Amino acid sequence: MKMFPPGSTLGILGGGQLGRMTALAAAKLGYRCHIFCPGADEPAVEVAAAHTQAAFDDTAALEQFAQAVDVVTLEWENVPLAAVDTVARHAPMHPGRDVLRVAQDREQEKTFARGIGIGTADFVIVRSAAELARALENVSLPAILKSTRMGYDGKGQVKITSGTDAAQAWRDMGSDTGILEAFVDFACEVSVIVAVSPSGETKAFPTVENLHRNQILAETHAPATINPVIAAEAEQTAQKLAQKLGVVGLLAVEFFVLRHPNAQGQHVLMNEIAPRPHNSGHWTMDACPCGQFEQLVRAVCNLPLGDVTPHSRAVMHNLIGDDVNRWPDLLKQPRASLHLYGKTETRAGRKMGHVNILGENWTS
Ligand code: AMP
Repeated sequence: MKMFPPGSTLGILGGGQLGRMTALAAAKLGYRCHIFCPGADEPAVEVAAAHTQAAFDDTAALEQFAQAVDVVTLEWENVPLAAVDTVARHAPMHPGRDVLRVAQDREQEKTFARGIGIGTADFVIVRSAAELARALENVSLPAILKSTRMGYDGKGQVKITSGTDAAQAWRDMGSDTGILEAFVDFACEVSVIVAVSPSGETKAFPTVENLHRNQILAETHAPATINPVIAAEAEQTAQKLAQKLGVVGLLAVEFFVLRHPNAQGQHVLMNEIAPRPHNSGHWTMDACPCGQFEQLVRAVCNLPLGDVTPHSRAVMHNLIGDDVNRWPDLLKQPRASLHLYGKTETRAGRKMGHVNILGENWTS
């Protein structure tokens, strides 16, 4: 397996904050980054050495980009597979199309997980309002209707209770294929980020606990305050998923922690995967010797993976919308590390930055 040493150029598909923080971590190790994204002033662009501004269906631009870099990764899992195929003809691309095909579709994700013995919420696929109405006759409520593709931060999701009108719920979901999921009465939500290099080295960051507000991640607490046996189950499950999917790079796995083990003896159900850096891994930037962004760079360049043992406990707070105006106070807080994404326009619900507050020693 080829190694790409410092000095090489890393291509990144997508120009958001995850690309920005990947480019900063790559620069720390002496790499150049080349961003491919449609916008002119996306967060990653201003911290990278080069930028191709083009759409993901611009084959000529994708080819030129891929020929100008040594190895390619992505910060957005919904990059069209055709674009990934074009890039992969000219440069090593991690993660590859097989991983992305699964991660782009909630039905495929859950079917894949179940196929290898990993529990998920019960679900049924619906393709019209009439199919939804029929499905609702057979499921216990509440339930959640989600678009199978392109949903994030609660977008394309509708909670269905006994009073909900199926036709209205179908319209609100706003897609031509939906997944109707049983509502999981979870104790808490946790996630694990696993890194895998092309030579097969694998490391998982410890399990962390995530608090959502309005279906958007608000806080991550590291470590998760759950039974260590359950935390270990989450880590093993995430590693199994990464291995069976054939991930090279990062895989973030979100779980629901059950109040009682299910019939298979499982304490965690997989909710969602993302083969890229994840918001619930931002705490690692300040609390671990090697954060998730540096780990991604190491993995895709086939360097030895970094140490994932945290030195400190940490809480990550997302700065969403006007929260970003708290920056002067946050700068004064001891043990706070502020990360702003350089977005010029503040909008409600938009992730503008985050702050990591370091706590006690990890082992205390
Ligand atoms: P998702 O986009 O699937 O990650 O959903 C966003 C958030 O909605 C999750 O983090 C949960 O807080 C909540 N949620 C999603 N699906 C379910 C479910 N089947 N049961 C209970 N809560 C859910």
